[in-house]
Amino acid sequence: MFNYKYALLLFFISVFSISCTSENDENEDGEPGIDKTANLQGLGDSASHLLSDAEFTSMHIEIVYVNGYAPSQAALTNFKEFLMERTFKPDGIKISLRAVPSSGKAPFSIDEIVDIEEETRTIYNAGDEIAVYIYVADGKSEKDEENKFTLGSAFRNTSMVIFGETIENFAARANAPAESDIEAAVYNHEFGHLFGLVDIGTEPQSDHKDEDNEGHCIVDNCLMQSSIEFGSGIIDEIDGGRIPQLGEQCIRDLQAAGGR
Ligand SMILES: [Zn+2]
Ligand SMILES: [Zn+2]
Repeated sequence: MFNYKYALLLFFISVFSISCTSENDENEDGEPGIDKTANLQGLGDSASHLLSDAEFTSMHIEIVYVNGYAPSQAALTNFKEFLMERTFKPDGIKISLRAVPSSGKAPFSIDEIVDIEEETRTIYNAGDEIAVYIYVADGKSEKDEENKFTLGSAFRNTSMVIFGETIENFAARANAPAESDIEAAVYNHEFGHLFGLVDIGTEPQSDHKDEDNEGHCIVDNCLMQSSIEFGSGIIDEIDGGRIPQLGEQCIRDLQAAGGR
């Protein structure tokens, strides 16, 4: 909703300024340093590259978490299964985990997360391997309101942030689902945005786009409903430990864009 659109707006502004100052040099061979250009594009721009094996046959996900906010093993297992189900990566999907100290910047704007990514990201596309960066923050989004909080945000073609502290606080509420189930839902949901859902880089094959919440789906129980991102409906969605799955409409969009 508002938070999401605002995050997107900030994101476009920051990407615009980054693209203005960086050379789009395609010639990587023999160049010193790392070419980061391909990983500094807009949200949804790499949807097909993440889904299909036409250009990238493997995926390397770098999860950088602030000390104390490591994702649970159960969430990571579910997350990897979700990715394997939807993508063609014959050479595998690898997840690397690394702890970093707190930035001390909470609550976070997306601009601050962009700065943290620049400081802490070490893995970029290389050869036929596509790289994704996930930052697990020790604080909340600065856009949070009393009853509306952001659990995660995808902000570039291969970048997303998980608000680890917000998830932890949310899981501590009465009747809340298990923390690892919330984590898995948020990781999967935000990756759905990297896959271009809904209508952010991946063309919808049917009418299921949420007109009031950019990038989201209106189908009941679908992983891409906006309630997953903002926590508002996650208690209902994670019913008896069942982590929300993508609905048929969202899956068809991904298949049309090169996914499984
Ligand atoms: Zn979302
Ligand atoms: Zn859907």
